[in-house]
Amino acid sequence: MTASDTLAKATATDTLANLAGSLLDGSVKVVDCAAPLGPDTPLLKLPPELAVDTPKIEVHEISRYDNNGPFWAWNWLKLGEHSGTHFDAPQHWVTGKDYPDGTTDTINPQAFVAPVNVIDCSKESAGDNDFLLTTERVKAWEAEHGEIREGEWVLMRTDWDQFNTDEDKFLNTTETGPHTPGVTAECIEYLIGKGIIGWGTQCIGTDAGMAATFEIPFPAHNLLHKHNRYGLASLTNLDLLPAKGAILIANPLKIVKGTGSPVRALALVPAA
Ligand code: MN
Repeated sequence: MTASDTLAKATATDTLANLAGSLLDGSVKVVDCAAPLGPDTPLLKLPPELAVDTPKIEVHEISRYDNNGPFWAWNWLKLGEHSGTHFDAPQHWVTGKDYPDGTTDTINPQAFVAPVNVIDCSKESAGDNDFLLTTERVKAWEAEHGEIREGEWVLMRTDWDQFNTDEDKFLNTTETGPHTPGVTAECIEYLIGKGIIGWGTQCIGTDAGMAATFEIPFPAHNLLHKHNRYGLASLTNLDLLPAKGAILIANPLKIVKGTGSPVRALALVPAA
């Protein structure tokens, strides 16, 4: 080991000791960025001519301290990989189907803990349910808060989690289709060019509700996964995160060949 390696290791040891102290004394808080997962969790509805939907979540009791198991309670679940607050792996999309490290069991776990940028679009999204984040708007955000760097997450705050308990409001579907905010193809390309590891939203998916009708259909899915990047959907409590400076922990279950997984996404943030 060189002198600089030894120094780096000592610094990392100090960093973790400081973090441990901050977690214990409450100066670093853990924010829950996941929605409750159960039979009432809103799920994506696709046009029937296009696709088969993910099934309703079912929770089946095996035993509850009874004849089926006198001392214990446990359930079995039926749920799609893309249910509730969840992670999209690259092989979720046809553009990412050939990445050998593109499934939930093969992604380098280093990616599951990373710095996070939170772009507040809550006012715009309240005024326009079809609001799309643009490159211009991201550049203005960077001028104010600092550059988005390689290896970081970018999350779009819309406060859409307020509708999590009401599927109709959450999906916001009218006769013209679903109307929820998202991102332009150009903006996703810009963020991929910055080296982000992934893009996350508070809506049902990483794309805007109307994204099936875009020039590149579902550009966030198409482009993120084409470049071996990840997605997060149905995130909660992004209003409790700073624009910069939090650490996001978002680790999918290690489902063999999984294209995604529900996650208990957590953020480490400085106490207010
Ligand atoms: Mn998904």
